[in-house]
Amino acid sequence: MRDVGPNNKTMGAGKPRPAGIPDRLGGLWELASDLSWTWNPAAPALFGAIDPPLWRRTRHNPVALLRAVGETRWRELAADDGFLRRYDAACDARDRVLGGGESAASTWFARSYAEFAERPVAYFCAEFALHESIPIYSGGLGVLAGDHLKAASELGVPLVGVGLMYAHGYFDQTLGPDGWQEDADDPLDPDLTPLERLQGADGIPWLASLQGGGRRIHIGAWRLRVGRVSLYLLDTDLEENDPADRGLSHQLYAGGADHRLRQEAILGVGGVRVLAALGIDPGAWHANEGHAAFMMVERVRRLMRDGRSFTDAVSRVRASTVFTTHTPVSAGHDVFSHAQMREWIGETFWEEFPHREELLGLGLHPDDEAQDRFHMTAAAIRLSRRVNGVSARHGRVSREIWHGLWEDRAAGEVPIRHVTNGVHLATWMSDGVAGLLDEWLPAGWRCGPGDEAMWRAARDVPAEALWRVRRRLKLRLLELMRDEARRRWPDHWPESAHLAGAGTLMSPEPLTIGFARRFATYKRADLIFRDRDRLLALLSDPARPVQLIFAGKAHPRDDDGKRVLQRVYEHTRDPEFEGRVAFLENYGLHTAHGLVEGVDLWLNLPRVPLEASGTSGMKAALNGVPQLATADGWWEEGFEGDNGWIIPPAPATASEAEVDEHDAEHLFRLLEEEVIPLYYDRPGAGCGDDAPAGWLAQARRAIEVAGARFTASRMVRDYARDYYVPSLRGDD
Ligand SMILES: *Cc1c(COP(=O)(O)O)cnc(C)c1O
Repeated sequence: MRDVGPNNKTMGAGKPRPAGIPDRLGGLWELASDLSWTWNPAAPALFGAIDPPLWRRTRHNPVALLRAVGETRWRELAADDGFLRRYDAACDARDRVLGGGESAASTWFARSYAEFAERPVAYFCAEFALHESIPIYSGGLGVLAGDHLKAASELGVPLVGVGLMYAHGYFDQTLGPDGWQEDADDPLDPDLTPLERLQGADGIPWLASLQGGGRRIHIGAWRLRVGRVSLYLLDTDLEENDPADRGLSHQLYAGGADHRLRQEAILGVGGVRVLAALGIDPGAWHANEGHAAFMMVERVRRLMRDGRSFTDAVSRVRASTVFTTHTPVSAGHDVFSHAQMREWIGETFWEEFPHREELLGLGLHPDDEAQDRFHMTAAAIRLSRRVNGVSARHGRVSREIWHGLWEDRAAGEVPIRHVTNGVHLATWMSDGVAGLLDEWLPAGWRCGPGDEAMWRAARDVPAEALWRVRRRLKLRLLELMRDEARRRWPDHWPESAHLAGAGTLMSPEPLTIGFARRFATYKRADLIFRDRDRLLALLSDPARPVQLIFAGKAHPRDDDGKRVLQRVYEHTRDPEFEGRVAFLENYGLHTAHGLVEGVDLWLNLPRVPLEASGTSGMKAALNGVPQLATADGWWEEGFEGDNGWIIPPAPATASEAEVDEHDAEHLFRLLEEEVIPLYYDRPGAGCGDDAPAGWLAQARRAIEVAGARFTASRMVRDYARDYYVPSLRGDD
């Protein structure tokens, strides 16, 4: 397969290795310079062993770590045989993870579709969550995009990612004593990341530009290696730009509508131009969510500039474009007024030629009376031959929402399909569980695209062995919460109640329920507190205790979400709950790992049908943590009757309050009558075996179902087979 990266003129040769690292350990820098280390089974522990406190302080950032280690420590390490053996193992594992050389020809994509490996698929997304040391993500969409790149690397799908480089990150969450969320910048120093600044032609610092608000805005680019995949992150933070434009790319989902419009122009229009400047010529284009729709408009514009008619340009763009929508409510999609468009990107799109009405028409929505707004999702749907939602249920919902664009068809015939989301197995399955599966699944199960027959073997894992692993993971989560508490209490917590609320009183025995996600109101983090007495009875039952751990950020401008968070936080300090309700601050990839691995039960309570897919329950399931959830998103198709629990849908005629009432009642009933009794049913208890056999049967089925059907590998294979290859082939 040809290297689909940029040509050598612009390709960074990698950052120079810090002088201190001895030659014998020089490969550490290479490991750290490519995010494939994050799913290399030997690398994280290797970095951690170099200097454990420093590793924690740097947020598990190997570049920052390697820059900070002193000469004495390097000398010790270079003479430490045990460390050298681990180092060699991690370097070997990297070769396997990357599968370069001969094994590049043996990847799934190369074996299945060798003739389509020439031109890459360009994958556009406004956020990518690859590792917590690169905080350019807010949540689910970013994690999905990051997992997509990792799986594409493993499968050998020729993909390049395009996103934005947010130098100020998303935000760092701390809660005030009253539980009100405070949002601080979470700045990102590129020197302490593997990001490489790319040069434009003749060494100029930008690769492309666009005209906006009467000024020229130059666009720079950074390159990040994610195994075989390159991710290009664009920014405007260049001296050559007007100070007002330099901040355009600073922060994710910040600012008002104008700011957002301009950011999306940088992503979409800038992305197409930067790829062209790098000599990358994609054969297919994938917009992950509507933020990137201008990528399609810009391609129409370029074709028209080159002499094609509008109709011809649109049909060419459509044939090679894939669009994934993630939002199941009409109001959740970006819409810009034509006046805004004229002001900020008019010069970009139509300064040279008179096709304004046609381009603006691409974003019209039939329900819009004034017909003076540009709907990003409507434009993306019109310009994509292949459109999908992210679960079976969300596919149906999307066909209804977007029915208006196909007046001549019945809702069921609207050409929107679905590819259910999945999570990257090597990222989200803990070492403990993966190590167990090594013994019971066929060799090579980690790399191969396993099928349902292969995953059946997960049922053979012995209950006691899984129980031991589950217990270790829970202890690790409790330790993580204590670590966080040690870090935060002197500055932030004036009262002892806060220490209890951070989970420091929690023990490993109780059934531990996790709830972690964005604090959007529809996710209903507070549903379980509707009946305080009933909850209290569950938490404080001395024979069968339960504890609850919450985590999640509210969007900085979502005061309703912040109020829900504040209410939940209040319960963590309620003395009657005896420290059995905790909140873990600053939810991100690292805390997500601790939670999805360490709790016993994963709780997910979106108000149906507002969750397009949801993925955290898949991560939990891969670790043997069954989910209890409403029949929304992926759970509607993932629930098999013996891999967790489902809250049946409320009657269609119910009001919102009635739905909440109905769902809370079912939640309590399931906990009281099924979940808790099963967890505490210990058939071998008298004989020194405290493993709950029935519970662990559910846990194994959770692993089996998630492993077979809800991994990013399955998801990317679906995209490649049904969306990318037909686009690369130019099928209609
Ligand atoms: C997986 C993940 C999400 C998405 O979880 P949902 O179940 O889709 O809400 C959000 N944030 C982080 C940090 C995650 O790891």
